[in-house]
Amino acid sequence: MSLHMKICYPELSKFKSQPTQWGCKHEQKGLSAYNALQEEKHKAWELQACGLFIDKEHGFLAATPDSLVTCSCCGNGVVEVKDIIEGFEDMGGLGRTGRVTTQALVFMARGLTNRWKLPIGYTLHSGPASARVMEPLLMSAVRQLRNAGLTVVSTVCDMGKPNQELYRLLGVTETSPQFDVDGTPVMALHNVPHIFKCVRNGLLKHDVEVDGETLSWSHIKAFYNADKDRPIRTAPKLGPEHVQPDAFKKMSVRLAAQIMSASTSAGMRIYQSFDRALSARLTSHGKNARLSFY
Ligand SMILES: [Zn+2]
Repeated sequence: MSLHMKICYPELSKFKSQPTQWGCKHEQKGLSAYNALQEEKHKAWELQACGLFIDKEHGFLAATPDSLVTCSCCGNGVVEVKDIIEGFEDMGGLGRTGRVTTQALVFMARGLTNRWKLPIGYTLHSGPASARVMEPLLMSAVRQLRNAGLTVVSTVCDMGKPNQELYRLLGVTETSPQFDVDGTPVMALHNVPHIFKCVRNGLLKHDVEVDGETLSWSHIKAFYNADKDRPIRTAPKLGPEHVQPDAFKKMSVRLAAQIMSASTSAGMRIYQSFDRALSARLTSHGKNARLSFY
């Protein structure tokens, strides 16, 4: 690792594992062997040592390739010397095992006020990564982002069991949805589109009582059936896939967001106000129905 990188990212320079140590020790040997093998196969072949490259547009992006390579037949390239068989469990600073990888855990950073996304690292696991394994990885990710000058406001993950367990391990509760990294809090969120789908799927199966009134998917169905064949519809975007999604369509966040939208609600209110004839048929779903059309 170059001096620049050590200064800019002290956390990174602490990263050490068997393969990286082996790599540092044998890098020159690897480069020489590669050079000897390729030299005769290319025209104007040249292998060139190099230092740190910083992205001109995004200053936080940088890389130090092990070498640069040029030849007149193939053009320019970069060389990375590795001595690792990919495909086995590799948990970064937590080490590697001989178990075959079946899942990758990816950490991605994104801006809150700017539109950018950047995968910042991944680890490879045999089966889902447990909360105990994810905890130090998450801590390290937050620290490295802070070292790079970013403010980490919150973390977002879906509601998979290991993720819920991770938040519990970090002391996240309903009343205090945050955890500390070196004394500075980070908000712990679950992914909101996922919650949209969970709410919709819950409503598909069950009626919900709110303040003594009933919320029911049958109201949405009745609204859709009343609206769908009219020449001018109040909710023209709604189709059968919204009202009766199959297993595949249930995974679409777009459909869940569209049917539980302000425009669906506005459409239902229009019927509520104007279509008294319809109401007579629909109130049979329950006298106290929150969304009955009268
Ligand atoms: Zn070439």
